[in-house]
Amino acid sequence: MTAQPVPDLLPSELPAGLPPLATAQQLAAITAELGGVSGLRLVSSGAELERLSHDRFDYSPVLAPLLRGKRAQLIVQATTTDQVLRVAKACARHAVALTVRGAGTGNYGQCVPLAGGVVLDLSGLNRLRRLDPLSNIVTVEAGCLLADLDRRLGALGRAVRLAPSTWRSATAAGFIAGGSGGIGSLRFGFLRDPGNLVGLEVVTLEPEPRLLQLDAPASRALNHAYGTNGILTAVHLPTAAAVAWQQLVVDFESWDAALAAARLLPATALLLNSLCLLEAPVAHCMPAPGGSGPGGCPQARGHRMLVLAAPDALSTLEPLLAELGGTLVWQAAEQGDRGLPLRELSWNHTTLHMRARDPGWTYLQLLLPQPEAPALGALKQRWGDDLLWHLEGVRQQGGQRLVALPLVRWRGAAALESLIGQARDLGVMLFNPHALTVEDGGLGVIDADQVAAKAAHDPAGLLNPGKLRGWAKLPH
Ligand SMILES: Cc1cc2nc3c(=O)[nH]c(=O)nc-3n(C[C@H](O)[C@H](O)[C@H](O)COP(=O)(O)OP(=O)(O)OC[C@H]3O[C@@H](n4cnc5c(N)ncnc54)[C@H](O)[C@@H]3O)c2cc1C
Repeated sequence: MTAQPVPDLLPSELPAGLPPLATAQQLAAITAELGGVSGLRLVSSGAELERLSHDRFDYSPVLAPLLRGKRAQLIVQATTTDQVLRVAKACARHAVALTVRGAGTGNYGQCVPLAGGVVLDLSGLNRLRRLDPLSNIVTVEAGCLLADLDRRLGALGRAVRLAPSTWRSATAAGFIAGGSGGIGSLRFGFLRDPGNLVGLEVVTLEPEPRLLQLDAPASRALNHAYGTNGILTAVHLPTAAAVAWQQLVVDFESWDAALAAARLLPATALLLNSLCLLEAPVAHCMPAPGGSGPGGCPQARGHRMLVLAAPDALSTLEPLLAELGGTLVWQAAEQGDRGLPLRELSWNHTTLHMRARDPGWTYLQLLLPQPEAPALGALKQRWGDDLLWHLEGVRQQGGQRLVALPLVRWRGAAALESLIGQARDLGVMLFNPHALTVEDGGLGVIDADQVAAKAAHDPAGLLNPGKLRGWAKLPH
């Protein structure tokens, strides 16, 4: 099969129609106005301004050259909702672009300001407001770290349902606005699945900003919209019962057996929270306990499955794994184990560890067709060692599926486009991590509700300019 190149899939320039940088007069006016607001911290130059202008876009050799020079003209750090209202008012009145930032761990440049202006850092707006005793819905402020939230919930017998592998450093609102899924997606699917976000508190960007309380249907348009259509100040999330997850590392000599096990285990009644499958050369580049330890990249000995399982699953899981051709090589409780948790070897942390050894690796995000083996095999046959498999089990539209975050050896944009083209020809769905806009990183289509929410909450188009393609297409 000859794969067709996919035109314009990988951006070679910034989106057209970005607003101009703020002028010196605009900046002076906004600085004077915000300088008088008690508790706000302003940063107008230096290394801190550089750091708070960037995220982890270096995972993409396509985006890195486009984003490297982009920076805020002013950073504003807020810790209360009242302060956020003041910042929104000042930006709207002086027509200055505003990009919100949580922890800056996004890896497509989601919080990098393409048109300068203000970056609003909300990592200090981080209180846990309430756990509803009846519904177990938690209300937490935008900048609360997910690990802190999980720890606080754990003391009450509850847990975060979904978390990125960056849960230690990522914020609750950053995950909603910029993330998609991760640990827990095996049970609860993706963030945009109905039920995973039950409400939002939002500040609008208008001369007289409004503080809105959105229910679940109204929140949907702001879920994974990169902060282009509202400033989230608090999120309402369902929680799960806390489970003392057990971490298991299982070796498989045969890839086919490992793949069969990855398909079968989520379809049992065993309570599992994540299942990650690493092709041998990836597994053995991971740090311990999922890989072979800190020294070098030893000869691959086997493919590896990393599983988080409930304690009551173990007595069934262990003999079942043996039947399926797996050998349990390591096991420990997640809480209390002092080493690197398995969740920090999975999802994009796998990419992180591979890139730490060799920054010549990049990655893709693919929803695999079922059965997976033909597509996996065809791609492997063409790309050989330039494509290494990393799969994650997820729930998608009520069924169990496998997604792939393969490691891809960077051989230039044309090769990457050709790989993507072949994958699509094989029925693979792409979530492109080398794209700048909400739409191009998702299903490629404009969501009219996202655009309508922007018109309602940010009529001047000042929030994170350039990231919502549907807005740019409107006549302004
Ligand atoms: C090693 C690594 C592993 C990762 N693993 C995963 C994973 O498993 N799953 C996953 O989904 N992602 C993953 N990511 C991406 C990222 O870490 C997560 O999506 C994370 O949740 C982002 O949170 P953050 O606080 O860093 O957000 P930021 O990067 O600061 O922001 C993300 C987006 O949200 C917007 N935003 C932030 N706060 C607000 C707010 N209050 N109001 C409106 N908009 C806001 C920003 O403008 C930006 O567009 C990974 C990244 C890395 C580098």
